[in-house]
Amino acid sequence: MLEIPRPPVLEHLTPHDLVTYFHCPHEMELMRTRDPARTPGPAGIPVTPADVVPLRHSPMFSPPLSKVEVYPGRIDIAPDDVLVYQDDGEDGLPMLFPPERIRLDARYREGARTLVDPELNFAGRPDLVIARADGALVPLEYKSTYMFVGYHEAHGRLFDTVQAIAECRLVHAAFGKRPPYALILYGDQAGDGEREGWVRIPYTEADEHWLRAALVQVRADRVRPPVPAERNCASCEANEAGRCRFAAARYDGPHHRAAFLASPRPALR
Ligand code: SF4
Repeated sequence: MLEIPRPPVLEHLTPHDLVTYFHCPHEMELMRTRDPARTPGPAGIPVTPADVVPLRHSPMFSPPLSKVEVYPGRIDIAPDDVLVYQDDGEDGLPMLFPPERIRLDARYREGARTLVDPELNFAGRPDLVIARADGALVPLEYKSTYMFVGYHEAHGRLFDTVQAIAECRLVHAAFGKRPPYALILYGDQAGDGEREGWVRIPYTEADEHWLRAALVQVRADRVRPPVPAERNCASCEANEAGRCRFAAARYDGPHHRAAFLASPRPALR
């Protein structure tokens, strides 16, 4: 009897994979080989060939950024906004809602809090999901670092934008309602909130198109080349663990990336 060929299983990816690939594809590959179940090649072995030619930039294109809105100061939570999801595995999240406005969705209240998109084989956990007073459902990602000046000019937080777009897609898939935007809250913990701020990232058709194309690109890349550069390597976890033979700088701790991202940089490539 003729066997009907099954469609290939898509490689499982997370928002964190996308963010890491956006830094350096080899970093993503090395991080994934810590978990053999998530390694596309032989267990625990990166697919990157030993004679790979390193790149100067990640091959992933930047997400659309045209309508990002940047707000210094405290985030604007309306009196009728309600918290419907919280990643309780995440420490240090701000208390934005009083108890009477926390109504967690029963599907994600106990244990299984990972939001899954079966169509794209994509899964992850936003920090919070808020049902806004106007009916919109939006993910919120909290960053303990400060908000820098010149969001667009510095294009510094593109990594956070990648994560925000990915989380909008997960909220759409898991809750059945498309978020019009995501929020990123910068808490400035080290500076007592003096440089606190928040950013509103729209989730348009163009953003979803970018996300789908990015997932295809990551899955099609069977080289996962390194991007050795101080801005990447000095804060790379794989480098910290001594796992990268292409490192261009010594590991210098997670603060290095935050400091780098806050510094002025040239325009988008
Ligand atoms: S050390 Fe640098 S080149 Fe190596 S994986 Fe990390 S970021 Fe990429």
